[in-house]
Amino acid sequence: MKIHEYQARNLFRKYGIPVPDGVVCHSVEEVEKNVPNDEKLRVVKAQVHVGGRGKAGGVKLAKSKAEAVEKAGQILGMDIKGLTVEKVLVADAVDIEKEFYVGLINDRNSKSVTLMASAEGGVEIEEVARVSPEKIIKMSIDPTMGLMDWQARKIALQLFRDPKEMRQAAAILVKLYRLYVETDSSLAEINPLVLTPDKRVLAIDGKMNFDDNALFRQPEILKMRESTEDEKKEIEANEKGLSYIKLDGNIGCMVNGAGLAMATMDMIKLYGGEPANFLDIGGSSNPQKVVEAMSILLSDSNVKAVMINIFGGITRCDDVARGLVTALQEINTDIPVVIRLSGTNAKEGLEIIREYGLPTVSTMSEAAQKAIELSNK
Ligand code: GDP
Ligand code: MN
Repeated sequence: MKIHEYQARNLFRKYGIPVPDGVVCHSVEEVEKNVPNDEKLRVVKAQVHVGGRGKAGGVKLAKSKAEAVEKAGQILGMDIKGLTVEKVLVADAVDIEKEFYVGLINDRNSKSVTLMASAEGGVEIEEVARVSPEKIIKMSIDPTMGLMDWQARKIALQLFRDPKEMRQAAAILVKLYRLYVETDSSLAEINPLVLTPDKRVLAIDGKMNFDDNALFRQPEILKMRESTEDEKKEIEANEKGLSYIKLDGNIGCMVNGAGLAMATMDMIKLYGGEPANFLDIGGSSNPQKVVEAMSILLSDSNVKAVMINIFGGITRCDDVARGLVTALQEINTDIPVVIRLSGTNAKEGLEIIREYGLPTVSTMSEAAQKAIELSNK
């Protein structure tokens, strides 16, 4: 789960990481109402779940209230990497002497949380990692010990030479680690962490992701969830016992089993098609589940053909076929559907589908090719 910068800033504040004050506004009127009428330098920032807002024109400085209103008007409604800006953060701006990067991630290789830091902050860290990886300092944190003060100071010392600045940065790292662990975070980044001309170290951007599988024990984090339309669909599917991930292609896939779903997507790709989604309906022949899965698939206007790929193990193909027919009768769509059934009672299952009048195939590769062909019509 992702949260917005303003929410990350709230968590930072709660954990004692210094951040400038700010207010979230959903409209120009709200900026008019909530921002005091003065000449203070502020920064107006698009709140969307992507990075690189600065480059996209979604972060603008404003020298007065009037300017903040004007900049908010430009940013609200803007499209950044396919997301519409629905709210802005109007925050107190700071003078910047230098920008740094600090971040925590789960590193599967070292099986631990890894602290990353760089004096090359501000810009996209992925670019630094690609061009000059030696400029990123990394440290694995022992989960039983946590990030200890001396370790935080060791890292901070590589970014800040002045002891006073170094100590501020080290304290921030320790607090960020505590926040990360206590909220079951999977990513926590401050980019940039800044040094001001009056030698204060503070966070002026924040990005945090959380482990979806831990949300059940993080009610406060869950409350912060603000999903995009696509994410809402995925959550809705999840609540119905379906694992659904939307992708950008045009072939809808409905499959029983996660492994088979992956293989199906690979097969579509192999023949030059693009899957519209990952969808695992699990191991049941319940027609209601198929109806729900179908309606989720068809709500995506990119879908031009649907490939249903079922392997009958304990679930028998004839049961599944009956479920599919019941579901398809209820849905009644013009989108072409290709069904591949294999495994227990496949013969009986295919017979049922054929009687209903839909094309059937018995191998995955045939099904993929047929679905691609139908999607091009
Ligand atoms: P991002 O592009 O989505 O990562 O958004 P950031 O919040 O990191 O802002 C992008 C850039 O805008 C930063 O790297 C800064 O250079 C600049 N910026 C953001 N806030 C301030 C501020 O308060 N003062 C100044 N001078 N620059 C800022
Ligand atoms: Mn940033």
